[in-house]
Amino acid sequence: MSDNNFDKELYEEIKLKNKILVEGIRFDPNIFKNIGLGTKYTEQVNILFAVDKEAHVGIDFPSSIITPKGKYRIELRWNRHSPYSLEYEGNAFHIRHIFDGIVLENVSFARRAAYYNKRTSDGAFMRTVAGDYGYGHMFISYSNECSLKEKGRDCLFCNINATKSLYGEIQCINWKTPKQIGETVKEGYKDGFNKLTISGGFIPERREVDYYIDAAEAIIDATGLEDFNGTACIGAPTDLDVFDKYKEAGFRTIATNLEIWNRDIFNVICPGKAIECGGQENWLKALETEVDVFGKFNVRSTFVAGLEPKESLLEGIEYLVSRGVVANPSQWNINVGSSLEGHRTPEADWHWEVFERTVNIYRKYGLTWQQMNDATAEPDTVAHDLLRLYEGVSTDSLPKARLLVEDEAEIA
Ligand code: SF4
Repeated sequence: MSDNNFDKELYEEIKLKNKILVEGIRFDPNIFKNIGLGTKYTEQVNILFAVDKEAHVGIDFPSSIITPKGKYRIELRWNRHSPYSLEYEGNAFHIRHIFDGIVLENVSFARRAAYYNKRTSDGAFMRTVAGDYGYGHMFISYSNECSLKEKGRDCLFCNINATKSLYGEIQCINWKTPKQIGETVKEGYKDGFNKLTISGGFIPERREVDYYIDAAEAIIDATGLEDFNGTACIGAPTDLDVFDKYKEAGFRTIATNLEIWNRDIFNVICPGKAIECGGQENWLKALETEVDVFGKFNVRSTFVAGLEPKESLLEGIEYLVSRGVVANPSQWNINVGSSLEGHRTPEADWHWEVFERTVNIYRKYGLTWQQMNDATAEPDTVAHDLLRLYEGVSTDSLPKARLLVEDEAEIA
């Protein structure tokens, strides 16, 4: 990337963000007592996967930190053993490294969306229907459980069912109806959100398609938008003709997450995805067919980065990107309740190299940040930030929906 004329300070801020995401961050939960968490600032709502290393049932944390210069979002991942600590000092929040001292001054938190306080017509909290994933993205989790668990075939890195057991009841998180989804999206889009993803665990008997079509109809009815910029995130079906139905329902993009490239490792880490969906070969066929139906770079596949050798992962990313799929590495974050709890993800430098090389692959094949943004659920990954930086797109030009830009005085 040496030919790029980009802001080096922003580059360093993204690099630091990568480190903080890998290590998590420690803090005394009492420091959030007086900041207006759950009113002014967005609290974590664990609609799908809890991202902390340990559970904190009944104690609210902010969903994410906002960096001072680039306004990058750093998902808050609590780890009491992290070398990074979040501290409140002199009416401001800072991030300190155990050896390097303060590494980020005056960080802030994501501002709470107005719809978080509203309820659907049948009384559900809209914040449990759709999460604010930043930069105008809403993330809808129709279910907060995965039926693969019943067969002992859930993915080893995943904690969806553990998250439900820990937080489902206390945060009132349940299955969503299409009507609840339509009403929530209407409220969010009124406020400036402009992109949504629908996802969730495997439904028994794989009835996703009917559900997604009903949800799309409800969104179109509620918002009046034929194109609501939606991504349908689904497991690979055995009937590949089904993709036309998702397209006709109004989804602009589709996602089928392969998670692991190396076939043997995929079979071990994702036994349900391998056994129930025709093996990894069928996942690849599904992605190819999705590109035929939805078009180049209107298809996404996420990899859990850190579970297989780097070269294998990057081979998979290049294979897919060269065929029109937005292959997206997501740092393996060992969160509470997954089967791999107690393991650790590779070092920050390992992840940084993956992100740098992935963004090089994107640029080699002409994948733009805008295409990536439309196809992915989380617009705040390190790869997003890097690609935006290299393209010269600043966070200032993104939808202001819920991106906090406030001064420290308001925090105090
Ligand atoms: S398919 Fe795997 S990653 Fe997806 S929800 Fe089920 S267990 Fe989790």
